[in-house]
Amino acid sequence: MKEIILVKYGEIILKGLNRSKFEDMLIKNIRKVVGRDNIKSIKKQQAVIYIDPADHTDADALMEKLRKVFGILFIAKAGVFPKDMDVILSEGADYVCESMYGAQTFKVEAKRSDKKFPFDSPAISREMGGAILSRLHKIKVQVKNPEVLVRVEIRDNEAYVYANSAQCEGPGGMPTGSSGKATILLSGGIDSPVAAWMIAKRGVELDAVHFFSPPYTSERAKEKVIELARIVAGYTGRFNLYIVPFTEQQLAIRDNCPEDHLTLIMRRMMMMTAERIALKNNSLALITGESLGQVASQTIQALGVTNEVMTTIPVFRPLIGMDKNEIVDIARKIGTFETSILPYEDCCTVFTPKHPTTKPTLEKILESQSKIDIEYWVNKAVEETDWVLIEPNA
Ligand code: ATP
Ligand code: MG
Repeated sequence: MKEIILVKYGEIILKGLNRSKFEDMLIKNIRKVVGRDNIKSIKKQQAVIYIDPADHTDADALMEKLRKVFGILFIAKAGVFPKDMDVILSEGADYVCESMYGAQTFKVEAKRSDKKFPFDSPAISREMGGAILSRLHKIKVQVKNPEVLVRVEIRDNEAYVYANSAQCEGPGGMPTGSSGKATILLSGGIDSPVAAWMIAKRGVELDAVHFFSPPYTSERAKEKVIELARIVAGYTGRFNLYIVPFTEQQLAIRDNCPEDHLTLIMRRMMMMTAERIALKNNSLALITGESLGQVASQTIQALGVTNEVMTTIPVFRPLIGMDKNEIVDIARKIGTFETSILPYEDCCTVFTPKHPTTKPTLEKILESQSKIDIEYWVNKAVEETDWVLIEPNA
């Protein structure tokens, strides 16, 4: 039996006159994520996207891929039947009942876009309700808040039968590419991949920057960051990861600046470097995984001092008001957590002072920073930056 996939989207519906632009972008992203070969046809109609999978393509595998496409709220699988009431009530009812075992209540809603079909919508609903009741003995009809909503749609050439018990959720948000590009400062920790995902969810295309300090950070630590980037790319599609060697810079800071200011001067240098890389690549903002009060460098004062280096583009900190356990919940949901907790070192933590300042003033940090030629070190970091193209895991 043939099945199609129905995609329902959220916020795009509110886009008024621009709506079809966003819908087309979502369709383009769906094609990219699912693979053109796997789609026979794809069309939009009344705020639903209908995907007809290729003959060789498994509908469940296709649904799994769609669960990661930003902009999608729900994905439902529907059985396709001839426009023959007997077939709909026999094969269609069999089909939909398969996903309804164990449910207590249901309701049927029918829609008839072909007005010549000999049964009207209330009649189709009634008949289908009867067919389901005769198959599932413990279930009852409930008009208000039923557990399962069964839909029968009579279209021009065929009929679709489906239920919300066979649907799954997409990630929500806006289609990737609809909000410009931003650069995530990606470490190997739990927070930054979550921050990347949250901003990407709002339709932002990503670039990423990672600072590493060999031999203080190992090759495996870098591999871990690449793996995290690949997981994020499963949602956004491929992106560039810029890899910045930062050992000399960190040693210069360690050897010349007061110990309690090391972390903040290093973070200022990271932000300056990241901003320049972002500007070179037409990125419109930086993203970090900072969360207020999480560590010494994330107090209000420390964030103020860090942010002061930014010249033109904004910094987004989507985790700023979140607790660690809330961040971990998202990390688990998006699949980055298990990789993030692998125990490899980060360049931020190799040179941590014993007593980092928590209430820095800009004046004092600038004085400490004047011991090194920060322009020289930032330029050097930008010049030595390498990049890799991150492709989603298969
Ligand atoms: P995470 O869990 O993402 O590592 P964190 O809580 O450990 O974050 P910090 O190490 O202070 O916090 O880093 C704060 C933010 O700075 C990170 O979320 C990330 O955006 C950025 N950052 C830290 N280390 C690096 C790095 N090596 N390369 C790129 N960005 C980094
Ligand atoms: Mg970190």
